[in-house]
Amino acid sequence: MATQTSNAESPTGGKIPSSMRAVVYRGVNDLRLETVPVPAIGPGELLVKVTTCGVCGTDLKKIHTGSHSAPRIFGHEMAGTIVRVGQGAAGFAVGERVVVHHHVPCGECYYCRKQTFAQCPVYKKVGATAGFEPSGGGFAEYIRVMDWIVANRGVVPIPAGVPFEQAAFLEPVNTVLKAVKLLNLAADETVLVIGQGPIGVMLAALARRTGARVLTSDLYPQRHAIAAGFGLDHPIDAGRENAVERAFAATDGRGADAVILAVGATALIQTAMDAVRPGGKVMLFAQTQHEKANFDPGAVCMDEKTLLGSYSASAAILDEVTDLVFGGYRKGFDLTQLISHRFPLERAVEAIEIASHPTAGSMKIMIEPVPGAGRE
Ligand SMILES: [Zn+2]
Ligand SMILES: [Zn+2]
Repeated sequence: MATQTSNAESPTGGKIPSSMRAVVYRGVNDLRLETVPVPAIGPGELLVKVTTCGVCGTDLKKIHTGSHSAPRIFGHEMAGTIVRVGQGAAGFAVGERVVVHHHVPCGECYYCRKQTFAQCPVYKKVGATAGFEPSGGGFAEYIRVMDWIVANRGVVPIPAGVPFEQAAFLEPVNTVLKAVKLLNLAADETVLVIGQGPIGVMLAALARRTGARVLTSDLYPQRHAIAAGFGLDHPIDAGRENAVERAFAATDGRGADAVILAVGATALIQTAMDAVRPGGKVMLFAQTQHEKANFDPGAVCMDEKTLLGSYSASAAILDEVTDLVFGGYRKGFDLTQLISHRFPLERAVEAIEIASHPTAGSMKIMIEPVPGAGRE
C-alpha cells in the first residue's frame, strides 16, 4: 500500500508534484536529464526532497565503467528535507532536515559480527531510490527511503546551525575515519598521504587528529592551500619534489610509519611501498577497480610492510562521525571549504564531467536540486 497522495503540502508550503527532474544513467558515459515520476512511498518509508548531493568517486566509476546495469539514478551523499512520512515511520516528521544513508548493515550476519559491515549482504542492498533499480537517487529532486533504512539509523537528523552541505559529508567522512582507524596511528608517527583531492584532505586531516605528523603530497598548490586550512603544514609539491625522499628525510631515514594512497593510479602503490618504513602500513583507499598491480612481495614478507585497504562506511563509528561532522562545523572541521563547485540539477551532466577530470581548481563538487540551499 502506497501512502502517496497527490498534491500534498510540502513543508515549504508548495505542493509535492507528481513528476520531477532527475539525472538518469542510460549506459556507459551516458547521463541524461529526464522527467520521471516522484517515487511513491509505502509504510515505514520516507519521501525526502533532496537539497544537495555530493559527487563521489564511486559514482564516477559506475558511470564510466558500466559496472552497473542501466537505467539508474545515482548519487548517495545527500541531505534534504522530509516531505512525506509513511505510516508507522516512527520518530520522523515532515519538515525535518536529514542526511540519508543509502545502505545500512544488518548488524547480525557473520560479516557484521566481524565488523566488516561493507561485506554484509544487507549492506550491499541499496535502500534509497529516485526510481529504477535503487542506486541512491541523490541526483534527483526527491528520493524514497525504504523501511529498513529508516528503521536502522539510516536517516540522521541534521542539527540546527549545520548546513545541508556540511551534513552531506557524513558518509565520506565515515569511510575516511574508518580507514584512519585501521592504521592505529600514534602521536610519535609520521604519515604520508598521497593525493589531496577532497578525500585526501579529509584523510590527512583525520590522521592529524591522532597527533601524528602528516605529510601531504599533490601536484597542485591550490589543493595544498585548502589542506593548509585544515592544519596540514607539511606539503610536498609532487611536481618538483620526491615524496619518498621527503618521507625518509622526515623520519631519520626510516620511511613513513604509514602511507595512505588517495589517488587511483595503480603505479603509485610501488611509490607508497617505497615510502613506508619496514613494519609500516600502506593503505589503499582509492583502488576501487579490480586489476593487476606490481609490488615487491619481499617488501611484504621480509620488510614486514603491511598492504591493507578500506572501503565504504562502518556502522560501528556512526556516533563518532556524527559528532565530528556536526560538532566540527565552525570548530576546525568545516568541510564546506572542500567544495569548489555547486551546480543545479539542470547542469548535473556538466558537474559530473568536471568531477571526472580533476584540475587544480576542482575539489568537491555538489549537485543542488534546490539551487543555493545547500548552504542553509
Ligand atoms: Zn561516496
Ligand atoms: Zn550483516
